[in-house]
Amino acid sequence: MAVLHLVRRLVAAGAKIAASRPDLDYVAESEIKQMILDTMTIDYNRIGEVYSRLEPALAAARSTISAGTRKQLKSESQRERPWCYLCSVELDYETQGIPASFTLDHVWPQAFGGNSDPENLLPACGACNSRKGHAASWSLYPVQALVHGYRLSGDDLERLPKEARFAVLARSAAAEAKATDASLKDAFVTLGRPGLPTVLDESVSVDVFNLVANFS
Ligand SMILES: [Zn+2]
Repeated sequence: MAVLHLVRRLVAAGAKIAASRPDLDYVAESEIKQMILDTMTIDYNRIGEVYSRLEPALAAARSTISAGTRKQLKSESQRERPWCYLCSVELDYETQGIPASFTLDHVWPQAFGGNSDPENLLPACGACNSRKGHAASWSLYPVQALVHGYRLSGDDLERLPKEARFAVLARSAAAEAKATDASLKDAFVTLGRPGLPTVLDESVSVDVFNLVANFS
């Protein structure tokens, strides 16, 4: 987790520097290298190596979803998966700015170097997309909220915060991706439409690791 936070800091700081320049030119490169030096405890000789790994992430963080990609994924969603991949709600393709509005979510967040290519985008409702923001699904859930002694009933499961459901789904998708050597997006697609999670072991307190995702 510490590494992810560091990556996010580097990408965010680097993207800010890069945004002030039209291209990743020499001046931006020097500023970003200085930022790397300030942010990480690192041997001066390794800055070039870190920079070359960071550069694609910076480009990805600045990328926007093209009109063509949006159109393609919108019609795919309407045809095959007209629901939010995070909370399962039916998507509204006509109205913008409401909780159920069709949006495209970066499966691997841009803040961690996720790009805006179709392979990294899935249909999500406006409410989930804005809630998820730039955070990685698995880092969102405040585990403290569901620790020791908390007992969930069926009703409580329906009231689980979105973050908890994201975290449980993300764990399943990551396991599926690893088992089948697929991308995170493909894993979500294979798993299908998410339902409410269930409690794995009722005899112990419920936290995010004692919940299992269900799909239909
Ligand atoms: Zn949703």
